[in-house]
Parts: sequence; C-alpha cells; structure tokens
Amino acid sequence: MRSFDALANTPERREIRNAVRALCDKFDDNYWAEKDRLHEFPHEFAKAVAVGGWLGIAMPVEFGGSGMGVIEAAVMMQEIGRSAGSFAACSSVHINIFGLHSIVKHGSNAQRSKWLPSIIDGSCRACFGVTEPDAGLDTSNIKTQASRTGDRYIVNGQKVWTSTAQQAAKIVLLARTTPIEQCDRPIDGLSLFCADLNRSAVEIREIRKMGRHAVDSNQLFFDNFEIPADCLIGEEGRGFSYLLDSLNPERILNAAEVIGMGRRALEKAVAYANERVVFGRKIGQNQSIQHPLAQCWSELYAAELMTLHAAELYDSGQSCGAQANAAKYLAADAGFRACDRAVRTHGGMGYAAEYHVERYFREMVATQLAPVSREMILCYIAERELGLPKSY
Ligand SMILES: Cc1cc2nc3c(=O)[nH]c(=O)nc-3n(C[C@H](O)[C@H](O)[C@H](O)COP(=O)(O)OP(=O)(O)OC[C@H]3O[C@@H](n4cnc5c(N)ncnc54)[C@H](O)[C@@H]3O)c2cc1C
Repeated sequence: MRSFDALANTPERREIRNAVRALCDKFDDNYWAEKDRLHEFPHEFAKAVAVGGWLGIAMPVEFGGSGMGVIEAAVMMQEIGRSAGSFAACSSVHINIFGLHSIVKHGSNAQRSKWLPSIIDGSCRACFGVTEPDAGLDTSNIKTQASRTGDRYIVNGQKVWTSTAQQAAKIVLLARTTPIEQCDRPIDGLSLFCADLNRSAVEIREIRKMGRHAVDSNQLFFDNFEIPADCLIGEEGRGFSYLLDSLNPERILNAAEVIGMGRRALEKAVAYANERVVFGRKIGQNQSIQHPLAQCWSELYAAELMTLHAAELYDSGQSCGAQANAAKYLAADAGFRACDRAVRTHGGMGYAAEYHVERYFREMVATQLAPVSREMILCYIAERELGLPKSY
C-alpha cells in the first residue's frame, strides 16, 4: 500500500514518524493481544516511549520537553495508533503527552517545575477525572465538590471512566468549588486541581468494557479526599475555561490516533485481500472487496488533511474549534469504517482473535464515544458554524 502521511510532510516530521514507527515495531500484535487478553497495562511499551524522550514532545523545553507543536505530537500519536497496540497504545501515553496542558498554560512556575519533569520523563503517570455518572457530556453539571477549609480542599463525589487510574500517581481533577445556584453561569464555579491520587480516600473500581483491555477505565469514589490548596491550577472557579483551552489540541491528537488505527486495519485488510484465494482468484479482485477499501483509503486521507489543517491553525495561534471538531468527527467515522471493513474482508477469520482485526474493531468503537461523541461535535458545528439554535 502506498504511503500517504499528510501529517509527516517535512523531513523533520518524517524523522519523527520513522523513529516512532521503529519503537512501536518492537511491540507486535502478539504482545498487544496478550496484554488485551490479560487486561495488563503495557508497562514495557509506555517505558520505551518515555525512555525515548517522546512524552515531552509538545512540552516546554525548560522542563525537559522538546517544545514542538501539536502537529509533531499528532505525527507521533498517529504512528502509535498505527502500531499493533491501536487505541491501547495511544491511551497508555496520551495523558502524559497533552493532558497537563492546563498546567503548562495556567499553572504557576512552582507548579510547572514541580509536576512537569516527572510527567515528561514518565516516572509519574497522571489520569484525568472529568466525567461523572449523572452529568455525562453536560460537564457544567458535575456534582463532585471541593470545599476549602484552611489550606486545603476536601473533595467528595464520584467520577466515571477515569482511564489509567489504576496506574496513576496523580489526578487532574475537575470539581465544583462554588454551588451552581450561586454562579452567574453553570460553567462558573468549577476548579481544576492536580493532586496525588491518595488511595486511602479514593476508591478505584475498574469498569468491565468492550475493548482496550490493556488500559483500565474506572469509577472513582472520593470520600473526604484532601487536596492541598497549592494544588489548585490557576484561579478558583475558572477550571472549565482551562479545560476548554486544551480541548482543541486533544481533538486533534485524538483524530490523528484514530487515523493511524484505521490505517493499520486497512493495511491488514489489503494484505489479506491480496493473499486469500476463493473461487480460484484473490478476493481483492472482487469489486465488493476493493471498492470499500478504496473508500476507506479516501476517507482516512481526507480526515488526515483536516487534522493537519486544524493542527496548523492551532500551532500558528489561530482559532481552530470547528476544524479540530470536524477532524475528530471525520477521523472517528473513517477509522470505524476501516475497522469494520477489515473485519468483513477477513470473512469468518475477521472474528478470530488470531487475525487481530477484531481487537482493532473493539478498540475503535470507543473513539466514536470519547472523549466527545460525534453527536456533540455535530451540535457544536451546527451552532457555531451554521448559526443554528443551540440544541444542548
Ligand atoms: C474508553 C473510554 C475512556 C474514557 N476515559 C475518560 C477519562 O480518562 N476521563 C474522563 O473524564 N472521561 C473519560 N471517558 C468518558 C467520556 O469522555 C464520556 O463517556 C463521553 O464524554 C460521553 O459521556 P457519557 O458517556 O456520559 O454520555 P452521555 O452524556 O450520557 O450521552 C449519551 C449519548 O447521548 C448523546 N447526547 C447527549 N446529549 C445530547 C444532546 N444534547 N444532543 C445530542 N446528543 C446528545 C451523546 O452524544 C451520546 O451518544 C472515557 C470514556 C470511554 C468510553
């Protein structure tokens, strides 16, 4: 299959892609299938990414990062998505790559020098606690409360889906610090913290799920969980706007990951279509097999161009909300179709673990739902770009 990496369109980015690919190639399908089967975190892979210095790709140089842009981070994450590890590989490092953007942007110097170096060198893993069972996508409606008493906040409440909490030493946590009734807008009165995930005051229960078994997602129950006041990021009550700041780069990186995942599935499908012989000819000679694969190629390429466009806008300081959202939407749809077609191209063997495409398919389903659903993206574009009434 011909290479078509629009993101890696400069010598420097090609170098990043090739180096990340070489790293990922050391962890093959059998490694990831076993991690998936055993529900075991891919420590070896995550360590290799950290040792290679990749976690800090978009982090400031003064704290040990490489100070590159979102495009370079997207090249890297696309390549990780394209690896045998699919979404699990991406999720095992995703939060360290960009999840602490709010600290880079809004944290104090003391916080940055205290927290960022260990996130960048991989000695500390962080998780991200935003979603709650009763709020869902309506983030401003979260109920977890952080009440200030003296030099600390006391947190009570619940989070759901918090990924990597089983592994994480730190949590970036969104909680309500002012009751919603006392705020002008529901998005006010929310604060963002970066805290030690002290297990004695947080119960962490793993969620059984469809795929991405190598990387845990969890329910978290906070019972008088104490956070020192100096763990508050930026100003109290402005947490929601800090979150919004990191939304666009997160959408872009997520789109890049999904495009990589879709490409891997497509490559597997093409290889099988070129090798499997039925009715005396390769199945890839049938248009019912080759047209959908050609369609997947086109859709993934289009999604990649939108991702590149959004990343270029972001890195040059321009607004990119619609483009980042559209990239995420197009990528998730294209990636899902590629995985679906990869399973179907393999016929019955698409359902067998041995061929790995069923694992890619299971992992891909999550990308239609998280970190934001396709419906909410369409709501956003309808409102902001088309001028239609707000529907949520
Ligand atoms: C594998 C995985 C990992 C995750 N990791 C994390 C994590 O690390 N940290 C974290 O905080 N969260 C995490 N999440 C949570 C994820 O961000 C949420 O699942 C997602 O935001 C959707 O929220 P919800 O599941 O509550 O859906 P709901 O808000 O209940 O929505 C359900 C459905 O209704 C639709 N819907 C709701 N309201 C509207 C509307 N007004 N208009 C149109 N459609 C609407 C949605 O699009 C969706 O299809 C993860 C989720 C998954 C599956």
